[in-house]
Amino acid sequence: MGRLKITFLNPPFLKSFSRPQRSPAVTKSGTLYFPMWLAYACGAADKAGFEVDFMDAPADGFDLDYVKKRVADFAPGLIVADTSTPSVYNDAAVCQTLKDLVPGAFVLLVGTHVTALPEESLKLNGSVGAVAVGEYDQTVTDLAQTLESGGSLKDVAGICWRDGDKTVNNPRREFIEDLDSLPFVSSIYRRFLRIENYFNPNAIPPMVTITTSRGCPYPCSFCVYPQTLMSRKVRYRSVANVVDEIEYITKSFPEAKSIFFEDDTFTINRKRCVEISEEMMRRGINISWTINARADLDYETLRVMKRAGLKLMCVGFESGSQQLLDNIAKKTSVEKMESFMADARKAGVLVHGCFMVGLPGETKETMQGTLDMAKRLNPDTAQFYPIMVYPGTDAYQWYSEKGYLTTKDFSQWLTPGGLHNTIVRTEQLTSEEMVQFCDHARREFYLRPQYIARKMLNVAVNPDEMRRTLRSARTFIKYLVKGSDVAR
Ligand code: SF4
Repeated sequence: MGRLKITFLNPPFLKSFSRPQRSPAVTKSGTLYFPMWLAYACGAADKAGFEVDFMDAPADGFDLDYVKKRVADFAPGLIVADTSTPSVYNDAAVCQTLKDLVPGAFVLLVGTHVTALPEESLKLNGSVGAVAVGEYDQTVTDLAQTLESGGSLKDVAGICWRDGDKTVNNPRREFIEDLDSLPFVSSIYRRFLRIENYFNPNAIPPMVTITTSRGCPYPCSFCVYPQTLMSRKVRYRSVANVVDEIEYITKSFPEAKSIFFEDDTFTINRKRCVEISEEMMRRGINISWTINARADLDYETLRVMKRAGLKLMCVGFESGSQQLLDNIAKKTSVEKMESFMADARKAGVLVHGCFMVGLPGETKETMQGTLDMAKRLNPDTAQFYPIMVYPGTDAYQWYSEKGYLTTKDFSQWLTPGGLHNTIVRTEQLTSEEMVQFCDHARREFYLRPQYIARKMLNVAVNPDEMRRTLRSARTFIKYLVKGSDVAR
């Protein structure tokens, strides 16, 4: 008898819905994230000998009929479905349809949302056999082995499951320490995905997204991964293992122009940043890369990383108010941000700045202070959004307890068009005021004559910049002119 078959599914929902990103939505810039965590779990199951299929429905444009046909043909014993807060009702409904089609299949939901609300998620409908709580690579493999051998679900760490009328929360699974033991996630992309489907305006397309570590030690109240899937304990892949995968990508995806390192914060360990950079240079690897960073990296480290191909850093500046930064436990200062930007400029590394409004204590004056700071820091690109809060985070708890959540219907986390909706208010601001301010801030930032002149010059002298800028501008300019959907 063959091994158990497993379907890994990023379920169909809205066109170009970027479910795997920290703030899942259809985005103004056309961003579409790789289903990286699902692909990691697929790699682990494949390595353990299970027969696997993988579908990224929003990226490949697979509708429910196509997914049904492929699932019926494959006849899996286990369906592992990714979820997100705004799509969770849809995701459970898709699973119900598939379960009706293949009644013998066990359905496991995974992701940040079900980790935060396991019991509630289990009750979404009768198709859901269990939800994975936290990091789930090993959980899927253990569950598959248990289903295959007819063992008891009570022995599978890291799941919440249904035992008759009862809900059972098994003990949480230990986080994986030896990340080198996992197969390259890019090898699963190679087998099942088309990299040209994916886009991040901060990386030159086509790009490949991987991670070199898991977890982040900082306590930022709004940040979902360290508080749900990955923890505040940082675990690293070895430098050799990381650079081996980079080499694999350059050989297996000759069309790839860049790599996005999706670590929560790539730059926690500066010595390791330098070691990865030096190893890339020693092996003669020549590819552009992008990272998520905190605004605290020094010039010397930046210089080495730039020489190894670092093009751009995505940096969460969040707010121009020290008090508000403290209120979200950002553990940084406005002064540090200023000196970091000066160093990044000197090292020639571009910065995408993230700014949020609607933080605890926000007023019209602090929002304006954030916009003033954004213009002063003057990163290459900037995003302005009302804070999005997700179950499992301290921020969600705070807004919920204060009565500042405008809804608890998770489908309302999106506008009718699938964009981020604003579902919080503060003591002094309504949701609408935050949305209007962000529309205003985007125009103020991007329509400055000196900004437009600098951008045109960059694009004129650099064809890769032209490709990156034009692709995101296609959708972004529409929203810049028209503004956001009105929050409900
Ligand atoms: S430093 Fe960045 S990744 Fe880490 S918790 Fe804060 S926002 Fe999240």
